[in-house]
Amino acid sequence: MTEKVSGPTGAELLHNPHINRGSAFTLDDRRRLGVEGLLPPVPDSLEIQIARVEHQLAALDSDLQKYLFLSDLQARNEVLYYAVLMSDPARFMPLVYTPTVGEACQKFDHVFRASRGMYLPITAKGRLQEILGNWPTQDVRFIVVTDGERILGLGDLGVGGMGIPVGKLALYTACAGVPPQMTMPVTLDVGTNNHALLDDPLYLGLRQERVRGAEYDAFIEEFVQAVMTRFPKCCIQWEDFANINAVPILERYRDKICTYNDDIQGTAAIALAGVFGALRITGQKLADQRFLFLGAGSAATGIAELISEAMMLEGIKPADARARNWLYDINGLVTSARADIADFQRPFAHDPLPVGSFVEAVEAIKPSAIIGVSTTPKLFNRQVIEAMSRLNERPIIFPYSNPTSRSECTAEEAYTWSDGRAVFASGSPFPPVAIKDKTFVPGQGNNVYIFPAMGMAILATQTRRVTQEMFIVAARAVADQVTTEDLGRGLIYPPTTRIFEASLLTATKIAEYVFDNGLAAVERPVNIEAHIRALAYRPAYGA
Ligand code: NAD
Repeated sequence: MTEKVSGPTGAELLHNPHINRGSAFTLDDRRRLGVEGLLPPVPDSLEIQIARVEHQLAALDSDLQKYLFLSDLQARNEVLYYAVLMSDPARFMPLVYTPTVGEACQKFDHVFRASRGMYLPITAKGRLQEILGNWPTQDVRFIVVTDGERILGLGDLGVGGMGIPVGKLALYTACAGVPPQMTMPVTLDVGTNNHALLDDPLYLGLRQERVRGAEYDAFIEEFVQAVMTRFPKCCIQWEDFANINAVPILERYRDKICTYNDDIQGTAAIALAGVFGALRITGQKLADQRFLFLGAGSAATGIAELISEAMMLEGIKPADARARNWLYDINGLVTSARADIADFQRPFAHDPLPVGSFVEAVEAIKPSAIIGVSTTPKLFNRQVIEAMSRLNERPIIFPYSNPTSRSECTAEEAYTWSDGRAVFASGSPFPPVAIKDKTFVPGQGNNVYIFPAMGMAILATQTRRVTQEMFIVAARAVADQVTTEDLGRGLIYPPTTRIFEASLLTATKIAEYVFDNGLAAVERPVNIEAHIRALAYRPAYGA
């Protein structure tokens, strides 16, 4: 008697990426599932399949081709896709996410093949809940959503922005084991102001200018309500919205639902992790530091606010903590005397000081750390770094502007001009630097140390809210994982080669905080780390 099989069989099975095993179906399974004859006759192992993927990747010339090949694999066989990514996350991250994903988003309409994720156009307003019902799985726990307006540093890419939620969610799985079937990439199409796209006959999005104001806000509200109704346990992560929308959306929903914005909060957390790491080298306390930011945009104010909140946890009063964070922008030092200060900068607009240049601001404020988030290269010049080195035994120098061409200084400049005393980390990667007989390994402040771990912690706790303290805990956990040996080489972040293990440990620390503070919607497990390890997705075909 033949066994009754539930779920797809035959050719349909081979087209379902969640359950397809391709050439790895055993002979028994092939007979049972009706795919005999639809595959080459001899079954493979997952290891052989991985080796074949590597072989095929090696034959491709460009990173974009590799990106597209891996996207096709994801649409065909999810286990194999994640087995490949998780075999070496540090190598595959740049292929499935930045920088390659940027080019893929720019060329989205020209390279488009299989559709992935959920598209919600503003023309469908009033029907979002119904459309979300078309998603093939019921238990969605994690959404990354963009409206495509500020994709990386590339601007408005309309629906081409979908590459970002897709790539980012792949990293939630590959770097922290968030199960892929619980994730959903979403693009809200509210139009685009990119005229090259509107004029391109291959453009796949709505051909209209971006909707703004009350109509936009109502669409976001409908989206949030529809998600909460369809997927009540879901966390919404906002991604690559323009500042004018990102900040108010976060403010509107952060105290109402489980939600966060990685550009704002993840960025701040990875910078704070760098600060905690640097303090392990200098042996000082956070409360004793003074920070001067070059740049006063969303990155600067987000980092300054999280640093201030971490100082408050060390007992510093809010006003005193913020007074230890100064901003310097295109118009000079941000002070209360300036008429052009925006609300979000106001907490860091202090009493005026007579300074006419950034180096004069360094001399007057005497910061222990300078953080570059100005998008302008070379402003941490020799004079600035020499001044920092005169004022501090171990000056903290973080040029965080991306890409490399916009970095406020190079690693070599920071180490050379400080005579090897700088504690350095950057937004973009730099190679090791040899000064005299010592080799320094520059750390890269990459949000990937934070967001996958945050996702796993949210999944494990079903936290009702995502709080600032959770990001401070995450930052501390990342910094605590840097080995003494790495600190000795100047490296203040853990290596990305260990990202999966690092993320599970960071997720455990965040989850402990969530349980300790009564934010969890599930019962506290006896062993939180074991609970997280048990939840983590591992790519395997199983029985
Ligand atoms: P933004 O455009 O909002 O702000 C830029 C700020 O720099 C503005 O305040 C502007 O006045 C100031 N500025 C520009 N030119 C200047 C000059 N010549 N002198 C002094 N100030 C100047 O940008 P943002 O979103 O805050 O991002 C800033 C940078 O931070 C970007 O390069 C981004 O790549 C980087 N960033 C890095 C990470 C990371 O490494 N994890 C994360 C987020 C942002």
